[in-house]
Amino acid sequence: MEVNKEPLAAPCGLYCGVCAIYIAHRDGNLKFKEKLTAVYGVPCDELHCRGCLSDDVFAYCRVCPIKTCASERKIEGCHHCTDFPCGHIDSFPIPVGKQEILRSVPVRRDLGTEQWMEEEEKRCRCSRCGNALFRGAKRCNACGAAVEMEK
Ligand code: SF4
Ligand code: SF4
Ligand SMILES: [Zn+2]
Repeated sequence: MEVNKEPLAAPCGLYCGVCAIYIAHRDGNLKFKEKLTAVYGVPCDELHCRGCLSDDVFAYCRVCPIKTCASERKIEGCHHCTDFPCGHIDSFPIPVGKQEILRSVPVRRDLGTEQWMEEEEKRCRCSRCGNALFRGAKRCNACGAAVEMEK
C-alpha cells in the first residue's frame, strides 16, 4: 500500500517518516512503545502519532512553536524562511533534534520536499541489510549491525 507522506513533512525539518513514535504506532509495536516510554517520559497510550501535519499528533509536537511559527508565516517550513536558524531552533529542547534540524533544513531547501523525504528515508536504512530504521537507532533490528548515521 502506498503511504501518504504529506502529513510526514514536518515544518521543522525532522522528517516524521523515520520518527520512532510514528513507526512504533504505525506498526502497532507495543514492545517498541514500551521502550519509548522511558525516552519520552509518557505512558504507552500517549505514544501515538501519524505525522506532524496529520490530525493525530504526539502531545509534544502538537504544541511545537516551530510549527506554529511556520504556519503563521504561511510557509511550508523553515527551509523557506530567511530567518533560519532562528531562536526557536536554537531553543529546541532536545540537543540531538536541534542538530538534526540544522542538518536537514538546508538539504530540504536544496532538494525540495519530495526528494528530501526520500533522502531522509535512505539515510535511515541499515547499511548492511537495507532494513528501514528509525532516526537515532543504534542497532539494526533485522540483522543486528551497529548503526552509524551520517551527521
Ligand atoms: S512525534 Fe513529532 S516528529 Fe514524531 S511523527 Fe509525530 S510530529 Fe513527527
Ligand atoms: S522563524 Fe524560525 S521557526 Fe519560524 S519559520 Fe523561520 S526558521 Fe522556522
Ligand atoms: Zn541490518
